[in-house]
Amino acid sequence: MKKVVVFSQIDQDVLERLQQNYQVVILNPKLGDINAQIRQEVIDADAMIGSGRLLNESNLAPAQQLKIISTVSVGYDNYDVNYLNQRKIWLSNTPHVLTETTADLAFSLLMSAARKIPQLDTWTKQGQWQKTISTEQFGVDIFGKTLGIIGLGHIGAAIARRGFYGFNMDILYHSRREKIEVAQSLNAQYRELDDLLQQSDFIVVAVDLNVESKQLIGAEQFDLMQKHAVFVNIARGSVVDEHALIKALQNNKIFAAGLDVYAKEPLQSSALFELPNIVTTPHIGSATAQTRKKMVQLAYQNLVDALENKTPRYLVNPNFK
Ligand code: NAP
Repeated sequence: MKKVVVFSQIDQDVLERLQQNYQVVILNPKLGDINAQIRQEVIDADAMIGSGRLLNESNLAPAQQLKIISTVSVGYDNYDVNYLNQRKIWLSNTPHVLTETTADLAFSLLMSAARKIPQLDTWTKQGQWQKTISTEQFGVDIFGKTLGIIGLGHIGAAIARRGFYGFNMDILYHSRREKIEVAQSLNAQYRELDDLLQQSDFIVVAVDLNVESKQLIGAEQFDLMQKHAVFVNIARGSVVDEHALIKALQNNKIFAAGLDVYAKEPLQSSALFELPNIVTTPHIGSATAQTRKKMVQLAYQNLVDALENKTPRYLVNPNFK
């Protein structure tokens, strides 16, 4: 019987389906060093499924017959793809099914930060609404403003659609390659990064994390933004220099920020939490019951296809056909 290692919590139905057909080992961080568990269980594993763990030579080296790692995520920066290529191990991911949900979250952060929703929720509930509100409670306009998207991929385009159709926004974008078709449908204008930062009222980061996008936004980039700009990151924490962001917010170089992702996760304490002009969420871009179900089902199908000697539909490294 083929062996499947489950390296994070996954949906119960999918787990039961796996258990019907394979020998399933579920790793549990409460039972001790997770990397030691991976090294031990991977020796005779055929497949792995899960998310949120760093998998590379240090814990995968003992694998003898590992065919696929099926990540329940679209981002795959936790995995050393070069090493997987060397070892001829497939990596599959779950694109598309989370695009709209993650775009919803990005727009929620944008709106919450622009209108200070969480801060004013707390303020109202604390009984501080004693007379007419003052300018301190004012936000910034969204409708008809300029939205700059950094990384006009699937999620970036879905965020842009919300801005264009829902809020009559002018769309600017920056990507490594121009996205003619998507851009045309949204009347989106390509800009070099510096120009986008200078011209946008709202800036949303939606790139994948790679060598070029790491620390893409730092002090120099925050300096270029407008004083009333709202900055949102739903991509990966390492795309942004967090210290530079904290400084920009402390010095009111920008109006506000909305963050779903951080350099270190889970984040339990940070200078970010002390700032009045930031809205934070705990990496919940795709976290709705419906979307998470679709993601794990897709990850399951990728895994089963590989074990049945078919080519999975969503491979990050498809060169081992
Ligand atoms: P995607 O379709 O691959 O889009 C990524 C886009 O980023 C591509 O259009 C790419 O453009 C662009 N890009 C990459 N490096 C760049 C750089 N240095 N400068 C400018 N643009 C760059 O992926 P997606 O499905 O939209 O997902 C994007 C990322 O969002 C994922 O990789 C993941 O890290 C993150 N995410 C987060 C959550 C969450 O819970 N917060 C949920 C889902 C996804 P080129 O074609 O020009 O390279």
